[in-house]
Amino acid sequence: MVKSASGNFECGACGLRYADEKIAEKCEAFCTEHNACSLEIIRLAVKG
Ligand SMILES: [Zn+2]
Repeated sequence: MVKSASGNFECGACGLRYADEKIAEKCEAFCTEHNACSLEIIRLAVKG
């Protein structure tokens, strides 16, 4: 999980960004474990 320049939190595995650090951590854990993203988590990603 990386903090991006825009102040969001980026999943180190898939690169999607989230406003919430905890969600980004969840995404990274899921991506790493399953080698795929969770649709439930992706829905919370920051657009753009
Ligand atoms: Zn991810």
